[in-house]
Amino acid sequence: MNIHEFQGKSILRSYNVDIQEGFVASTVDQAVLVAQQLQEKYNTRYFVVKAQVHAGGRGKGGGVKLAKSVDEVAILAGQMLGMTLVTPQTGQAGKKVNKILVAEDVFYKGREEPKEFYISMLLNRKTSRYTVMYSPEGGMDIEQVAERTPGLIYTEEISPLAGLRPFQARNIAFRLGLQGEANKNMQKFLAGIYEAFTGCDAQLLEINPVLKTSDERVLAVDCKMILDDNALFRHPDLAEMRDLNEEDPVEVEAGKHNLNYVRLDGNVGCMVNGAGLAMATMDIIKLSGGSPANFLDVGGSANAATVEAGFRIILKDPAVKAILINIFGGIVRCDRVANGVVEAYKSIGKINVPVIVRLQGTNATEAKNIIDNSGLKVISAVSFGEAAEKVHEALTA
Ligand code: GDP
Ligand code: MN
Repeated sequence: MNIHEFQGKSILRSYNVDIQEGFVASTVDQAVLVAQQLQEKYNTRYFVVKAQVHAGGRGKGGGVKLAKSVDEVAILAGQMLGMTLVTPQTGQAGKKVNKILVAEDVFYKGREEPKEFYISMLLNRKTSRYTVMYSPEGGMDIEQVAERTPGLIYTEEISPLAGLRPFQARNIAFRLGLQGEANKNMQKFLAGIYEAFTGCDAQLLEINPVLKTSDERVLAVDCKMILDDNALFRHPDLAEMRDLNEEDPVEVEAGKHNLNYVRLDGNVGCMVNGAGLAMATMDIIKLSGGSPANFLDVGGSANAATVEAGFRIILKDPAVKAILINIFGGIVRCDRVANGVVEAYKSIGKINVPVIVRLQGTNATEAKNIIDNSGLKVISAVSFGEAAEKVHEALTA
C-alpha cells in the first residue's frame, strides 16, 4: 500500500526522526492557517507548498513550489488544489491534487550550503536482506546519477539478526561526506528510519532528499513509503492511511470481491484462474493480434458469483471489445464454471461484446455442451490456439 508524503513523515516523526515540519491542507484557508502556525511555532520564514499525490517527480512537474510569504502560500494553494499534476511518473493523464502539504522551507542559507542526499531502505531479494541504498548526490536528478555515475550509489546490507549496526551507520555517514555534528545527526537519523522501516513492515522507505541543513541538522524533506499489504493486519492505524482517491476505482471494486485485477490498456478483457494461466492468456491474446485490457485472476474457486463480479468489472472498461474466459477446472469442475458463466451472463443482461470461453479440465465436455446449448452469444473453444483464433475473429468481425 502506498501512502502520501505527509503520512510517511508523520510516521517518521513518531519514531523521533527529524523531518521538514509541515501539515496537510485540503483548502486554501487551511493552507493559510498551517503557514501561520508554522510561523508561530518554528519561526518559519519561507514555505514550500507540495502536492500530495501518489507519484514522484513532483518537483519537475510543478508540484513543489516555494512561497516567500503567507499570502504567496494562499496563491500557490489556490493554484495547486484541484489541478491535474503531470510528472515524469504519472503518465500523461496526470493525477488530481486533492491535498497539499504546507511545510517550512529548510533550504535556508547559512555558513554552509544545504546538501541533498538520497537514502532508501528496501528488501534485496537476491540476498534476502534489508539493504540501505544511498548516495551523496541526492535530489531531483537521482535517476540520472543511477544511469550515468552508478558508482556514486552505495549499498549497505543489514543482517536480519543484528539489524542496522552502529558501525554501518558510521560508514554511511562518512561516505556521505559528513563530519562533526552533521555526521552524528546522520547516524541518529539512520537508526531512526531503520526503526520506522521495520516497525511498520514497510517494503520501501525512500527519502530523497535527506537534507543536511546549513546549520548541520539532518532531516527528511521527502518521504515515499510502501507498506506490505500482507502485514497491514498488524497495523490497523496504518491501514487507515489508505487513500482510495489515489487508486483505480475498478481495482478497488475488484479487491472487494477478492479478485486480483490490474487494469491494462488493451481491448480484450480476460478472466482466468491462476496467475500463471493469466499470464499465458495475455500472451496468447497478444499473439492473436489483440492486446489485454486487464489481468484478472479469479482464484481457485471460480463460481457463478465470482464470474459475475469478474464480468461486471471487465465491462466497466469501455475499451473492452471482446472477453476471453480461460479457466482450468482442477479443483473447480468445468461444468459448474460453465453454469456460472451462463447465469452471470443472463443476470447482467446486456453484454454487447463477444465472449469466448475456454474451459479445460474436469468435465470439460459437459461444460462445452452447456455453453453451446445456452442460446447465448457465447463462443466456446477447446484449445488455446482455437481460443486465440476466435478472439482474433471477434476483433476483426
Ligand atoms: P519530488 O520531486 O516528488 O521527489 O518532491 P520532493 O519533496 O523531493 O521535492 C523536490 C525538490 O524540491 C527537492 O529536491 C528540493 O530541491 C525542492 N525542495 C523541497 N523542499 C524544499 C524547501 O523547503 N525549500 C526549497 N528551496 N526547496 C525545496
Ligand atoms: Mn523526492
